[in-house]
Amino acid sequence: MPTDGLLLQSLTCGSCGVLFAVPARMLEQRTALGGVVACPNGHWCEARVTSPLQLRLDVQQALLAEVERRLTAALLDNAKLRQAVIDRLVGPRTAPDPAP
Ligand SMILES: [Zn+2]
Repeated sequence: MPTDGLLLQSLTCGSCGVLFAVPARMLEQRTALGGVVACPNGHWCEARVTSPLQLRLDVQQALLAEVERRLTAALLDNAKLRQAVIDRLVGPRTAPDPAP
């Protein structure tokens, strides 16, 4: 039987998506008390024992959210760049972006 601190349980922060681990016994005690744990970035997370499948789903959802955030930022940057090119070639505010 492992001693305290050797058996870790991984968690994913619901705020920043970071994957981190805490001692399994501590997590079980916090879960039983309805408590919280802090992620390495200082966000308070609900303490709950999570299955490995749920952990993988949590990680994939966090990755998907990050990809969506980066895609939205890239699309916005691309629209600004297109409008800057149109403004330079045609003149400022003389032609709308053909691909809004
Ligand atoms: Zn966090």
